[in-house]
Amino acid sequence: MFAGKAWCYVCPWDAVATWMERLRLWRKTDQGLGLGLPWPRRLRNIWLATALFVGLTWIELGFGVTLSPRATAYMGLGMLVMTIVAVFLFERKSFCRYGCLVGRVSGLYALFSGVEVRPRSREVCRSCAGKECVRGTDTAYPCPTFENPARLRVNTYCIQCTECIQACPHDNMTVNLRPWAADLAAEGRPAVDEAYLALLMLAITGFHGLTMTPAWPALLEWLQGLGLGEAAAFTVGMAGIMGLPILVYAALVAWSHRLATRGVPDPVPYGAYFVRYAYCVLPIALFYHLSHNLEHLLMEGPKVVRLLSDPLGRGWDLLGTAAWTPPPLVSLDVLWLMQVILVGVGHVYSLWAAKHISRRLFPDPARARRGQIPILIGMIAFSVFSLWLLKQPMEMRTSAM
Ligand code: SF4
Ligand code: SF4
Repeated sequence: MFAGKAWCYVCPWDAVATWMERLRLWRKTDQGLGLGLPWPRRLRNIWLATALFVGLTWIELGFGVTLSPRATAYMGLGMLVMTIVAVFLFERKSFCRYGCLVGRVSGLYALFSGVEVRPRSREVCRSCAGKECVRGTDTAYPCPTFENPARLRVNTYCIQCTECIQACPHDNMTVNLRPWAADLAAEGRPAVDEAYLALLMLAITGFHGLTMTPAWPALLEWLQGLGLGEAAAFTVGMAGIMGLPILVYAALVAWSHRLATRGVPDPVPYGAYFVRYAYCVLPIALFYHLSHNLEHLLMEGPKVVRLLSDPLGRGWDLLGTAAWTPPPLVSLDVLWLMQVILVGVGHVYSLWAAKHISRRLFPDPARARRGQIPILIGMIAFSVFSLWLLKQPMEMRTSAM
């Protein structure tokens, strides 16, 4: 939210894999050990990352891997192995661009970021013959995620590695500070795979919250009563809860499309409409995500002091705090107020994004306004649902609080 894809600066998976492939820690080399194959054409989208994201949620919540440090470690190692294989097989950072679930989720959230890498002047780029930012130089790599830095308009795939800043002989690339969420109002290239990931991010954040309420075990019990086994009941419940918001969104968009395009001889096709509006659910997903995790942070966060005394779970008491039972950082009333504010802020950003998207779709303001009504209803419904969810008694997975 503040620094865009800052995770990618410190990503341990890519760092280890890249050091192994280049056999050096810094400075450019053209002597890497990798095969440099092109990433398969059919996988040049983010469906693989989306599938990994859904799969991770399934494993995490269905099999409780986050309750077991060993299982969490194996998951991390699995991710490392995937990254190493991809770095040795494929050119540049293909896996970061197409396959990494963390990169793709943080890529969509980076549309909010208060920082961006952009050209200072698009005119200078247009008249630039060398295009060093795209081709690379003796000392700088070409853009590792296959972006054309000169045409960069949104943050989604830029990992802010600054290679283009080093490569540009005209000193035309720079890092800007900017208002939050600027990319939601920018003219990016809406894509169907990104739209589905945005919708799934909304669905998964809601699902995550729901699994911590008493409603979830009740639903699982009901499904098992129908004759499903434990894993099957979880899978069916998860698929149903994640599919529902997408179906509701599709219905609302169909209604909106009907209202806005009635009588227009050559209307925007429904598919394009579906894809463009999906970006305005991102603020709701992000701010719900933040308010949900705020509860973990403020209620469970102080336990880090206790854990510092025994970081490896060996029964140590290094700092004398191993037996400390810390109180939560804020009262439940204050927490609730903070969560309401966060959900409200997300809602306002969503409305703002919807307004920009409608204006781009319909130069006629009356149509733009009409088309927004169903989307608005959907946003209010989800925000109310978020608040209901946050008000439920949460069962913390990592503690008995
Ligand atoms: S960023 Fe620099 S190298 Fe790239 S196109 Fe623009 S002027 Fe040329
Ligand atoms: S080279 Fe430039 S555009 Fe490409 S990822 Fe790095 S900072 Fe972003």
